Amino acid sequence: MNPFFAFIDQALDRADLLRRDSARLDGLRRTAHCLWLDTHGRVAIRADGLPQIARGAPDDAVFLGCAENGEAWFAARYDAPFADDRAHIDLRRAALQWPAFLSTVYAQASAVLHWQTSHRFCPACGTRLDYRNAGWQGDCAACGRVEYPRSDPAVIVAVSDGERLLLGRQSGWPARRYSTLAGFVEPGESLEQAIVREVWEESRVRVLRSRYLASQPWPFPGALMLGFIAHAEADAPQTEQDELEDARWFSAAQVQAALAADDDENAPLKLSPPISISRWLITQWLAGVRA
Ligand SMILES: [Zn+2]
Repeated sequence: MNPFFAFIDQALDRADLLRRDSARLDGLRRTAHCLWLDTHGRVAIRADGLPQIARGAPDDAVFLGCAENGEAWFAARYDAPFADDRAHIDLRRAALQWPAFLSTVYAQASAVLHWQTSHRFCPACGTRLDYRNAGWQGDCAACGRVEYPRSDPAVIVAVSDGERLLLGRQSGWPARRYSTLAGFVEPGESLEQAIVREVWEESRVRVLRSRYLASQPWPFPGALMLGFIAHAEADAPQTEQDELEDARWFSAAQVQAALAADDDENAPLKLSPPISISRWLITQWLAGVRA
């Protein structure tokens, strides 16, 4: 895994021009690496835990891009889930276990295949879409509409009152696990407005200002996490039933201790796993980054 968070390191060159060059793409297809995902988005693995990578890609595979060594990579989807006795892995576990290059390729494959399988039909007239541009465009032959893959923007924010860090937990999470607050951006809303609204809805804490730091593709199934740091009033957090189970302020010492006690099951505070930008935002706040 990369030193910051998963799915950003060693990305493929997406080679946009090749998507429209079907002659060259057909040539690449015969010897390309192809990552196959089942209907649950899982990948079959070898005995060493790394992915089974097919040589050669079918005609309907999505072209992901080229690696530094020039190898072409494609992604394709099985029509069924893997049998339970077949060794396989999901993206969350792969992100923790695989080298950065492979988990970044898997994340890209997962995101674009999810878009295809959830956009089989034209949203205007319901006709089945024909995918072109190596899988990156869906055309409707009936009404002429063109669909492109999308990501759903979500803000994720380390909120501080100057002294402490605001963290929240959802019901169903492991005991004592807390994370930075996050939520999807609504139509017609700026990122800064989304932060003020989400933090208010989830904790009744008033954000005064925020600053963008970094982003992370989060294909569970199709989000783009936009990471911010924010400064807020020192309001007492209150949670509503349908949002977070709990939200509270933590001191730098408490957060530092939680980072150091990752493997301790009985730690009083447990943070998000290191694959997520949430944890990186927390380390940025600890390092003195402010809004
Ligand atoms: Zn249509």
